[in-house]
Amino acid sequence: MKRIAVLGAGLGGTIMAYELRDRLGREVEINLLSKGATYSFVPSNPWVAVGWRGREEIEVDLRPACAKRNITLHAQGAARVHPGENRVEMLDGSSLDYDYLVIATGPDLAFDEIEGFGPQHHTQSVCHIDHALAAKEAFDKLVANPGPVVIGAVQGASCFGPAYEFAFILDKALRDAKVRDRVPMTFVTSEPYIGHLGLDGVGDTKGLLESAMRSKHIKWVTNARVNRFENDKVVAEEINEDGSVKATHEIPSVYTMMLPAFRGVEAIRGIEGLTNPRGFILADKHQQNPTYRNVFSVGVCVAIPPMGKTPVPVGVPKTGFMIESMVTATAHNIANLIAGEEANAQGTWNAVCLADFGDGGIAFVAQPQLPPRNVNWSSQGKWVHAAKIGFEKYFLYKVKLGKSEPFYEKLTLQALGIDKLKAVSFDT
Ligand code: FAD
Repeated sequence: MKRIAVLGAGLGGTIMAYELRDRLGREVEINLLSKGATYSFVPSNPWVAVGWRGREEIEVDLRPACAKRNITLHAQGAARVHPGENRVEMLDGSSLDYDYLVIATGPDLAFDEIEGFGPQHHTQSVCHIDHALAAKEAFDKLVANPGPVVIGAVQGASCFGPAYEFAFILDKALRDAKVRDRVPMTFVTSEPYIGHLGLDGVGDTKGLLESAMRSKHIKWVTNARVNRFENDKVVAEEINEDGSVKATHEIPSVYTMMLPAFRGVEAIRGIEGLTNPRGFILADKHQQNPTYRNVFSVGVCVAIPPMGKTPVPVGVPKTGFMIESMVTATAHNIANLIAGEEANAQGTWNAVCLADFGDGGIAFVAQPQLPPRNVNWSSQGKWVHAAKIGFEKYFLYKVKLGKSEPFYEKLTLQALGIDKLKAVSFDT
């Protein structure tokens, strides 16, 4: 019996395990290697940070679903991947051998790259549920003692959607608390322009987001490289096209939340042939590692080169639907390898994103992710907030039930013309 290990039980890893089980039936052993037995829906963290959600509303105990789907959960956490030995070393000293490995370990948050950065120092974070809960405490203090805030994304960041989301959600929460008039807000970002999103814009995201910021009285600084965070200010340089410093800003802030740069987690970093210098997993268009052909990767941990040169480095975002497309391609490819065929399925990597503003929002679809595109669409409206709630409820329902993609979801996506797999010669 072939042994498959899926490392990481986040958005990509959980549905990877379920989809492998759907595709391969009982003839394979599937192991899900996690840190703890709980799945946490990361996209809801901005809501947690203003008290619109609690931990229990966005977490799922993975044990019942895994038991039902005959997936063995190893919740002790991985210490190191040894791809040359087809083995994952766990934090308790045990080891798990595999025939195929799918790495879905998400991001390590590189707070240590900037002085004073991160929840241990002077800034809040929405990247992890524990951070978001701590940010809620800081939010309560801000409401009690209003002052200026800075929201945004630092140099090297790739996940810009949640930065915008959080700026607008915070604006709404502060308006609800009737203190917004005492909270000057500045959005500080490494993007070359508002709405770039690491994708060189999608549709009119520049116009839509600039207009939304103007109407909510949020000032902005683009091409920003943060020098340091202090407890009452953010010190950032604004960079010209040629790399020279245009201005140095010292922006007062009693509450700062900026998205960090991401890198690969410790268990996979610095493995020759497996990872790039930032610790992201090298993968070809079939999600397969070029050196270790039985190792695949899905999600934020996958190495994707930036879109092009910008004055301050920005990365490419990896959004939920794009990750799901990687998962579907990987399930096809592992099934093919087991059947003695070649890996030939390719995820579309389309960027489909809903950026919630608390009472409205902006949605965009970039298909393919890199321009020029066949679909380059963005839109705004109250429906985006409702759709984001739908996404949350539906994804949590999928994880709880152990399903990867119920039939009606497939139908909806195909009706929209958004498929997870590129048309290639694989047999469905
Ligand atoms: P994760 O979901 O982070 O999962 C990685 C898992 O690996 C974690 O459970 C972690 O504990 C585990 N892991 C790590 N190291 C080890 C180890 N050594 N051993 C065992 N397990 C390990 N995308 C959207 O499409 N829509 C959104 O609205 C959206 N909002 C976002 C909001 C925020 C704040 C962030 C940060 C991202 C958002 N994204 C959104 C982007 C993306 O969809 C999410 O980051 C998503 O969770 C990424 O999935 P993943 O599986 O790659 O990583």
